[in-house]
Amino acid sequence: MDHFLYRDGILHAEDVPLPGIAAEVGTPFYVYSTATLTRHYTLFKEALEGLPNLVCYAMKSNSNQAVIKVLADLGAGMDVVSGGEYLRARAAGVPGARIVFSGIGKTAEEMRLTLEGGIRQFNVESEPELEVLSQVAVSLGKTAPITIRVNPDVDARTHAKIATGKSENKFGIPIARAREVYALAARLPGLQIVGIDVHIGSQLTDLAPFEAAYLKTVELTRMLRADGHDIRRLDLGGGLGIPYERSNTAPPLPTEYGALIKRITGDLDVEVEIEPGRLISGNAGLMVAGLIYVKHGEGRDFLILDAAMNDLIRPAMYDAHHDIIPVIEPEPGVEQAPYDIVGPVCESGDTFTKQRHMPPLDAGDLLAFRSAGAYGAVMSSEYNTRPLIPEVLVKGDHFAVIRPRPTFDDIINRDIVPEWL
Ligand SMILES: *Cc1c(COP(=O)(O)O)cnc(C)c1O
Repeated sequence: MDHFLYRDGILHAEDVPLPGIAAEVGTPFYVYSTATLTRHYTLFKEALEGLPNLVCYAMKSNSNQAVIKVLADLGAGMDVVSGGEYLRARAAGVPGARIVFSGIGKTAEEMRLTLEGGIRQFNVESEPELEVLSQVAVSLGKTAPITIRVNPDVDARTHAKIATGKSENKFGIPIARAREVYALAARLPGLQIVGIDVHIGSQLTDLAPFEAAYLKTVELTRMLRADGHDIRRLDLGGGLGIPYERSNTAPPLPTEYGALIKRITGDLDVEVEIEPGRLISGNAGLMVAGLIYVKHGEGRDFLILDAAMNDLIRPAMYDAHHDIIPVIEPEPGVEQAPYDIVGPVCESGDTFTKQRHMPPLDAGDLLAFRSAGAYGAVMSSEYNTRPLIPEVLVKGDHFAVIRPRPTFDDIINRDIVPEWL
């Protein structure tokens, strides 16, 4: 559920009509709903009620500080994957004690930064990383709380580019070697084992892979405890999918996911952490684009938008589907025709969708891409010298630009032409 609905035939974000935002900030732009962000976070909290837990929003899905603040003010923790994300979370007011640091390539510099600033835990992904973290912690006179990310060799049955829990993926330590690596961690100075971490992929539309991975994690918990390790937290990762296509069957709900977690971990006496990104931010955002041209080709018609693959790369990168709807509601029963919906970038891959049935549209009309709040703005670039598009946050009848569109001068003046050229 989200808060983007037609009212009197005009698509609104909460109580704000989208044409009003377009008139003020220009197109294309991203718009996020505070009420939807809040609702999704709250669904997870309610789903885990009764278990000690921390919901750590995976901020790589949408890391605007205003979005983070909405969640942080509700008590959310953050899952960060770089020193930059850590600093951004702190700048948005998240205490270090609520931040977990994931990722396979943490540098010594990033470890230093986060250890000095305060951190809840490092989710460590390899033996070399354990050794470096140990050295950094000792050099700072600190103790680094750690979990080790195990790779349970479970097929997440999602798009290959976002599956992370099979043995051939680069993530985590093979679960079969976990005891050995925990023993190493226990020997190294400056480290304190606090739990286990597992994350098998993103956009999972079925609970079975989670169940398989979590059962293995529970078994490992018992083994590691028997070996004398203090396993008090289980970080169960993120990855619950969202319905990108309204017409399709829906993925499991957070309540069902929460019930699974409670059933599997309920008698372990552990604190559970989860790291949802997409399910919190995905359906909390739209990308709104303007129609530049309707082009009639040979046997194929095109809608050419002012938004492109540099603004929303998911269709080009993951063959992702986004529902695309006109901001002005079409008359009921109006005849639809198939169009390829494309951007202006000079690549054939700059195609959002092919042969999508759309109502009649004219140049200047506005179109909204649904489910664009996650892995949208954060993955955008200035390819083709197209300025990053603005982000707008709505709350009730308020809206504010939370990242402005840079000017062409901003972009051009970042280049430095050496004086000796
Ligand atoms: C990407 C990622 C997440 C979030 O995944 P979603 O599918 O957005 O929920 C959580 N944890 C880790 C370690 C990740 O890499």
